[in-house]
Amino acid sequence: MLRVAVVGSGPSGVYAAQALIQQLRVPDVRVHILDRLPCPYGLVRYGVAPDHEKIKSLQNNLRSVLEDERIDFIGNVEVGAHGVGPRQLLELYHAVVYCVGAAKDRRLGIPGEDLPGSRSATDFVSWYSAHPDAVADDFVLGARSAVVIGVGNVAVDVARILARGADELRPTDVPQAALGALEASRVREVHMVGRRGPAQAKFTTKELRELGALPSADVLVEQSDLALEPAYAEGAAPPAGLSAASRRNLDVVRDWAARPPQGRPRQIRVRFFLRPAELLERDGRVSGVRFERTVPDGEGGVRGTGAYEDIEAQLVLRAVGYRGVPMPGLPFDDRRGTVPNDRGRVLRDGAPSPGEYVAGWIKRGPTGVIGTNRPCAKETVTALLDDATELTLRPVADDPLDRLREAGHRPVQWPGWLAIEQAESELGRTLGRGSVKIDDWPGLLHAANEGQRRPLPR
Ligand code: NAP
Repeated sequence: MLRVAVVGSGPSGVYAAQALIQQLRVPDVRVHILDRLPCPYGLVRYGVAPDHEKIKSLQNNLRSVLEDERIDFIGNVEVGAHGVGPRQLLELYHAVVYCVGAAKDRRLGIPGEDLPGSRSATDFVSWYSAHPDAVADDFVLGARSAVVIGVGNVAVDVARILARGADELRPTDVPQAALGALEASRVREVHMVGRRGPAQAKFTTKELRELGALPSADVLVEQSDLALEPAYAEGAAPPAGLSAASRRNLDVVRDWAARPPQGRPRQIRVRFFLRPAELLERDGRVSGVRFERTVPDGEGGVRGTGAYEDIEAQLVLRAVGYRGVPMPGLPFDDRRGTVPNDRGRVLRDGAPSPGEYVAGWIKRGPTGVIGTNRPCAKETVTALLDDATELTLRPVADDPLDRLREAGHRPVQWPGWLAIEQAESELGRTLGRGSVKIDDWPGLLHAANEGQRRPLPR
């Protein structure tokens, strides 16, 4: 039997497990999916915005993989600094596939970045997604204007959530505390700001268009921003060599620039060619962002002009990308924020490390949509299977779960997770809403333990 641990139960971890059980080369395979949290699904649960029900429904596909009898979900087990380490995992399993994503936000490296009121978009996302490690905070308290730095899909998500009315969010599973705060929010202006032009923006057209369809917000684009690149101005031919996706984005943005405001209660101002220079401070809190005006350099980049523009904001969300976090005991490429690997095989000092693999963002960096993880995981599993004969020669523990318990871990297994789901729908019922996420560790573990005491049928 080939025993494999997959570390991380987000899309890349589940797709890796699925690839392992769907292959025919090694029929006898057993997979343990370990997760630090008592809940599975990674960023599908804790990253996909609550109003993106269709993407969230992907959980149903991931669930059917986790319910396969050759796979066990083992939550509440940390791998790394405070938990079981890579070396110990190799005593328990023939192979370990790290699918731990990119857990941190990238930094801007400009003055004022850490002022109160300036937060990473990933913190904000964790808060409205009920991540149990999210700092209980009222992001929007006292803010009338917010600046979102970056024009990727995370920026679009957080701008949209800030601009939505509470009525639009109540039917979702957003936690009650965040819903209450967003209901009381007085944010009326959200500025989403890119340092380059619309053709270089990272957002996808579907997500961009969604902003324009919000019932409670007008989307505004300034012709003067677009005029900085003559090719973007109305009626001009798009720059040569532009991808179809960028062309579509450009069409949407030009359309908005030509559209008068509809008088909706909130405004999303999408800005371009503004590079953050510093965060401004008043009374010990952020009061705005100073941007340097940029112009295209003709090679897809921009150069500064020495002219500056200040945008007032009491809330600044930095949505400039995620970054992988080093795992103690595993090599790490600090420049790329990934684990060095060759098609998924972890490289130690340039040579493949037997039994250690990576998939997902920690393998290739934080890019692509959820589906990108499927071929990525498949490539890694192909490498693992090529090595399987060698790997199974090494003796491993008979029951890794017992060994984890002996080491002090309190695993939450599938019945525990099902009990959390059940507790969340009960919580929703008491609040007169649909299922509502539990947002704290004690609440999650209490529900899981109750469930594990009276195991539910698998
Ligand atoms: P991203 O797509 O890499 O976008 C990052 C943005 O930040 C870019 O506009 C980038 O501009 C800007 N930026 C980076 N450094 C900056 C700096 N120092 N100053 C100013 N701007 C800076 O990252 P993301 O939005 O975090 O998304 C991560 C991944 O998750 C993406 O693959 C995304 O598609 C995916 N995702 C998908 C969805 C969805 O499908 N609905 C939702 C959320 C996330 P430059 O281009 O100029 O560097």
